[in-house]
Amino acid sequence: MEIHVVTGDITRRSVDAIVNAANSSLLGGGGVDGAIHRAAGPELLEACRALRAGAYRDGLAVGQAVATEGFALPARWVIHTVGPNAHAGQTDPGLLEAAFRNSLDMAVSLGAASVAFPAISAGVYGWEPATVAEIAVRTIRKHPGTGIHTVEFVLFNDAVTRVFRSALDAGD
Ligand code: ADP
Repeated sequence: MEIHVVTGDITRRSVDAIVNAANSSLLGGGGVDGAIHRAAGPELLEACRALRAGAYRDGLAVGQAVATEGFALPARWVIHTVGPNAHAGQTDPGLLEAAFRNSLDMAVSLGAASVAFPAISAGVYGWEPATVAEIAVRTIRKHPGTGIHTVEFVLFNDAVTRVFRSALDAGD
């Protein structure tokens, strides 16, 4: 499995699956979640509403992952996960590890060969980018990743990109 780090907008990536740093409601929010909903179009919200009407009546728990189609996105699928919110006292690294691990498990079960991740929990949810990067790289490296050829981290600015690149270099 190759791991790449790039600066950019995750909604523009032509990969099999992009991961959304969603919230438990699954009904959209700010940050990367809002950008993904805008780029995917209204069908994404409809698909998320259908999840809420079915197996996810109580929303998606922190650390869990669920997939929808990507609709108008270049990506075929969106894997929605919920990172821990540091501002709500969710500071257990195991929760963030679970978000990355369960998203990868979902990518494997979808048959995705390429997956793009944002810096889950590093925005509104208040985790330090360096902590997110370390957990993300470690979790992905130890995942069997069956069938996944490429994992990319798509970061919104160069400062966060540098943090992820050093986490990647540190583990070499
Ligand atoms: P969380 O609530 O999990 O912290 P946010 O969306 O607030 O999620 O932030 C997660 C990260 O995603 C932040 O580093 C933010 O700068 C970044 N981000 C925001 N929009 C995009 C985008 N279009 N593509 C990639 N990353 C993005």
